[in-house]
Amino acid sequence: MHLKFWGVRGSVPVPGRETVKYGGNTTCLEVRTNDGTLLIIDAGTGIRLLGLELMKGEFGRGTGTAHILFTHSHWDHIQGFPFFIPAYIGSKDDAGNRVEGQCNRFHLYGASDVDDRLEATLRGQMEHFYFPVDLNYLSAQINFHPMVGNNVQIGSATITAKRLIHPNGVLGYRIQDGDHVLCIATDCEHPSDGSIDRNLLELAQNADILVYDAQYTPEEYNPAAHGLQGPSKIGWGHSTFMEGIRVAQEAKVKRLVLTHHDPLHNDERVAEMERRAQAILPGTLAAYEGLVLQL
Ligand SMILES: [Zn+2]
Ligand SMILES: [Zn+2]
Repeated sequence: MHLKFWGVRGSVPVPGRETVKYGGNTTCLEVRTNDGTLLIIDAGTGIRLLGLELMKGEFGRGTGTAHILFTHSHWDHIQGFPFFIPAYIGSKDDAGNRVEGQCNRFHLYGASDVDDRLEATLRGQMEHFYFPVDLNYLSAQINFHPMVGNNVQIGSATITAKRLIHPNGVLGYRIQDGDHVLCIATDCEHPSDGSIDRNLLELAQNADILVYDAQYTPEEYNPAAHGLQGPSKIGWGHSTFMEGIRVAQEAKVKRLVLTHHDPLHNDERVAEMERRAQAILPGTLAAYEGLVLQL
């Protein structure tokens, strides 16, 4: 399995000279399984760049297939979709029907207990109030799949999803391909009672890589607990690198990767957070745009 990060930011894109190293696009990950199946996790603004890369191959000819798994439909996880060029590639006949075999094909997954409004939300952000082109205009074949039972087999990958802690809910994913396991847990807050989320522990158990929401430092998350001033982030649905380390250690994860970097964190701040995390758990990485990991 092969993993590439196309967007690592949380909440809102942050272009600019202070975010060059880690990148300014919101969440999008590319996963290639052992049999060559393309999985895409979330459609933040990073998916625009992934789309341009995909256009150089079969997606440019209208013969590509990909599976897009959504963690949830908050804006920073869907806002790149209208700019995903491969979704515009395909042939339609005179009656406007898509021609079989000449259209890119996308399978979109959201769980019925978290995101039963995935289709409505994606359609909604392309209504003319917000965007000039509506979803039906797209020439690719787009199919929505509610993930009943939170399990799905896609190509050589067995995928398990579980609900994690986030306003309106979020899905964490465990992607098993051959002997290797990738766990993606973004937009998830740790339980307020100091325990570790059981669902997350199950998803991350013995994973090769855990990609974890480390939007805040512990001091930013709960300033009062550190004798500091400032707003508490408790209940905002995000976590810290320290909590990521706790999960990684408890679940015996081989490598922790921090993501969903806060818009207020410039390159220097993210690098500092990475150093603090590495001092406790060597090998921990802060994800950056373009980071490729093999597992
Ligand atoms: Zn987010
Ligand atoms: Zn969210």
